[in-house]
Amino acid sequence: MKINNNPFSGLSKTEIITWLKEDDPEKLNELWQHANSMRREHVGDEVHLRGIIEISNFCCRKCAYCGISVLNHDLQRYRMDLEEIVACAGEIENYGFGTVVLQSGEDFFLTKEWIAELITKIKTITNLAVTLSFGERIGDELVAWKEAGADRYLLKIETGNPDLYRKIHPRQNSPWENRIDLIRFLAAAGYETGSGIMVGIPGQTFEDLADDLLLLQELNIDMLGIGPFIPHPGTKLGQEYRHLRNDKNQAPNSEIMVYKVNALIRILCPDINIPTTTALATINKTSGRELSLSRGANVIMPNMTPVNYRKLYEIYPGRICLEEFGEEAVEAIRGRIFSSGRKISTGQGPSPSYLYKLKENTNNKYIGRRL
Ligand code: SAM
Repeated sequence: MKINNNPFSGLSKTEIITWLKEDDPEKLNELWQHANSMRREHVGDEVHLRGIIEISNFCCRKCAYCGISVLNHDLQRYRMDLEEIVACAGEIENYGFGTVVLQSGEDFFLTKEWIAELITKIKTITNLAVTLSFGERIGDELVAWKEAGADRYLLKIETGNPDLYRKIHPRQNSPWENRIDLIRFLAAAGYETGSGIMVGIPGQTFEDLADDLLLLQELNIDMLGIGPFIPHPGTKLGQEYRHLRNDKNQAPNSEIMVYKVNALIRILCPDINIPTTTALATINKTSGRELSLSRGANVIMPNMTPVNYRKLYEIYPGRICLEEFGEEAVEAIRGRIFSSGRKISTGQGPSPSYLYKLKENTNNKYIGRRL
């Protein structure tokens, strides 16, 4: 039974699958409009800008989709030094952004102490919120970084299907369940917690995607990034993609499918932050970001990694922004936000969902537990 005949209230798995398979432009327009009005009502017209710095492309993981996996022996590896990262964060603040996102492969050369020092330095010289995205690290490290001043942590589950997860992380030490445990741990440790999935992974069905959406809703996460799976020819999954047969259950990794998932996420989790992912902007360089902003998203994360490193962080081919950096590029992004009829946020831009949790002062039972 739908409240006030609203076709979007309390979406069931079957209804989500129907939306994912919908291709009537008029019906889809209803979906975009509803996601857009939910976005306006719950998180407002502001677009938050987060500058991302990819601080290291070393990675000990063997993810079957990712170009910076340890299995890619052809890639030149880099690690930025501390002063370089702090200077880059200073520039991000000068551009008027409210958040710096520090991301890397899973690089254990970046120690607990070194990262804590990096966070302390950034928090001392800037007013930026600090988001970390360093993969699966142990509870002790995550607590230390929170205490050093980190605000947010981003850890995608990639897929909610443990079997598919195992398949795309074939020689992974830790199982899918560890990601879920870590996400809960991060939230209990006080982080504003982000996650997300890839859309169109070979072997991922429409049903999987619907389950993923309901799982992400249940996990009560504060930010969700949804991007298409982009095949990297140097990876196992990139090769498999070339031979993918036409299976009617296979969810496509298409632009439209990403918009559908984004819009449904906004409807299911109205109070969270949703970025327009770089992967989406890579498959539609001209209007991917704008379309995503008008279909539920409210965050843009321009790449602020120094240009000489940026091309080495090749998680998939054809990434956008390999050249752009500096005032001109930032102005271009601002212009695109204004022309979409939106405003640029000037603060750190936490999600309403996180602020509600702070008010409720949710329990901290995971703090101190070793993972
Ligand atoms: N090491 C951290 C982690 O695992 O969370 C962060 C770095 S990882 C390279 C960042 C994200 O890149 C992953 O969460 C994944 O979704 C995305 N990614 C990697 N390869 C991709 C591909 N071929 N297509 C789309 N997204 C990809």
